[in-house]
Amino acid sequence: MVFPFTSIEDFKVELTEEHELFRKAVRQFVEQYLEPVAMEIEKTDRIPDELFEKARELGLFGVGIPEEYGGQGGGHVMEAILMEELSRVSPAFGTAVAVRALFTTPILLFGTEEQKRKYVTPVARGEKFAAHANTEPCCGSDVAAIQTRARRVNDHYIITGRKIFITGSDKADYFVVSARTSPPKEGKRWWGITVFIVERDTPGLKVGQRFNVMGLRGERPHEVILDEVKVPAENVVGKVDEGFKVIVTTYDHTRVGIAAQGVGIAQGAFEKALNYALQRQAFERPIIAFEGVAFKIADMLTMLEAARLLTYWAATLADRGDRRFIIAASMAKTFATEVAEKIANMAIKIHGGVGVDMETGVERYLRDAIITTIYEGTNDIQRATIVRQLLRDVFGVKLSLA
Ligand SMILES: Cc1cc2nc3c(=O)[nH]c(=O)nc-3n(C[C@H](O)[C@H](O)[C@H](O)COP(=O)(O)OP(=O)(O)OC[C@H]3O[C@@H](n4cnc5c(N)ncnc54)[C@H](O)[C@@H]3O)c2cc1C
Repeated sequence: MVFPFTSIEDFKVELTEEHELFRKAVRQFVEQYLEPVAMEIEKTDRIPDELFEKARELGLFGVGIPEEYGGQGGGHVMEAILMEELSRVSPAFGTAVAVRALFTTPILLFGTEEQKRKYVTPVARGEKFAAHANTEPCCGSDVAAIQTRARRVNDHYIITGRKIFITGSDKADYFVVSARTSPPKEGKRWWGITVFIVERDTPGLKVGQRFNVMGLRGERPHEVILDEVKVPAENVVGKVDEGFKVIVTTYDHTRVGIAAQGVGIAQGAFEKALNYALQRQAFERPIIAFEGVAFKIADMLTMLEAARLLTYWAATLADRGDRRFIIAASMAKTFATEVAEKIANMAIKIHGGVGVDMETGVERYLRDAIITTIYEGTNDIQRATIVRQLLRDVFGVKLSLA
């Protein structure tokens, strides 16, 4: 093997019969319940409650969560399959289901046994919804700069601040919230942030305006306002003042899901383009007979399969507990979401005029794809992570790029 991956073991994508059966079950759910309402979600900007109910019955909210905490078990590969299959038809519904991982992951990785039982279990069973409130008007990429404050008063913390672009917050029963509890230490900007679990009905917590973002209709984010919100000290996730690590480690794990969302969007847009190219006639032949269209289809399929391989490779490394999954997940997220953007754009072109008509259901893939290049760490931040990890793992050099 060659630099920087050195063993043949490093290059395996481990898919099993069980994974394939799971994909079939999700595909069946998608065809039966999601496909019929995908355009309705887009037009009404709302996901029907019955769809959440069906997803709950099938246990989709518990995928990737250990059985002892109410989940279905399965790891990153399973979660990637779920996200890919849902996003192939409705990226918004994919996000609506996957957002719970931004709440359960930090608790599963850093939380106490009691927090796992009390908060992860009902979310894994789909009985409660949850959201992740980190981004603020001042800052998204620069997590260390957040301005929300939490001060300790006896056995409680009092949190005040404003979070923006919080997915799923309109439905959420529980939130993880980041806040500054101490000033940064010299040379350690990230020091002094703490992560808390906050329940929806806590006085002072309000879900505010909805952001009119260009895509993910049906699952658009809201602002969350915290005004002197009193949270018990036992709701601290991980160590006080070391919440930066909780937040960034969470994204390391959930990022593979966004790569899979890119693959799903690319697959959905590709299938529509291929069908149209076969069926649409111009100059007395199907348009796929023209090299300009046929070569686009070839390039789309090549990019799609490369993105899929990279994504499931990153998921396999993560499931094996190989630390290099971090660099792989950043590469997969960057590549797959940019491939999704390109393929969605090419699919519109292949459709000609109807491609830009919202009724056709193709242009929405492009609007959704652009968002995937931004959330859970912009692709610039992923590129910085790739270089940082490369230098650290291969040369032992610590470089601060982001
Ligand atoms: C639809 C949607 C849903 C979201 N859901 C959630 C959610 O549920 N919870 C949550 O907490 N947040 C959520 N976000 C916020 C999202 O994670 C942030 O928007 C994202 O991390 C970027 O932060 P920012 O918007 O503050 O951009 P900034 O950090 O201000 O970045 C602006 C530009 O500068 C670039 N840049 C910044 N720093 C660097 C650097 N060091 N190197 C190179 N380039 C850099 C960025 O790449 C970007 O191009 C959501 C956002 C959207 C659009």
